[in-house]
Amino acid sequence: MTPSDTGFRFGGRLSLDLTWTLRYRAVAPTDLLSSPDDLRRWVTAAVAPCSVAVTPADLRAAVELREAVYSAALAVVEERPVGRAARSLLNRWAARPAPFLRLDTSGRSVRVLQPGDEAASALAVVALDAIELLSTADGRLRRCAGPGCALLFYDSSRPGRRRWCSTERCGNRVNSATYRRRQTDGTTNH
Ligand SMILES: [Zn+2]
Repeated sequence: MTPSDTGFRFGGRLSLDLTWTLRYRAVAPTDLLSSPDDLRRWVTAAVAPCSVAVTPADLRAAVELREAVYSAALAVVEERPVGRAARSLLNRWAARPAPFLRLDTSGRSVRVLQPGDEAASALAVVALDAIELLSTADGRLRRCAGPGCALLFYDSSRPGRRRWCSTERCGNRVNSATYRRRQTDGTTNH
């Protein structure tokens, strides 16, 4: 299964990708992690293959971590200090055993979840990524400028002037809305 088959979206930062599982957060929240199996599919698509069953407790932990990542990242975007509860939750998860790497027969590295602790190790690596991201402080962690879109993203482009979670999605929506407005106004120059 490829990531695009799952309904999940990925923007290149693992910890932010977890926050993207709550869509339309600002207007009509839709949770893509509504069952333990949703979490298993997300872990498989985002972190490493997870073949074991994920428990309801794992799901609750993932949602709790997701909200901590979102609140901490939003604080950084808005240049506020990260709240204590979010910070200590991230630190607790980051201290857990994370997935490890294995060299496969074709010379590629493969990420492997901790046997017996699959979901927890996936959350540990999410927390590690979040800590790295939150401490980078380069002004590239931003909130999408798309109307109604509350997604946070990290701009890794060379110019560093990205404004959208994705150009195809929010960028185009805004550009076509501007275009339509201009058509209505009778001003066609754009
Ligand atoms: Zn967006």
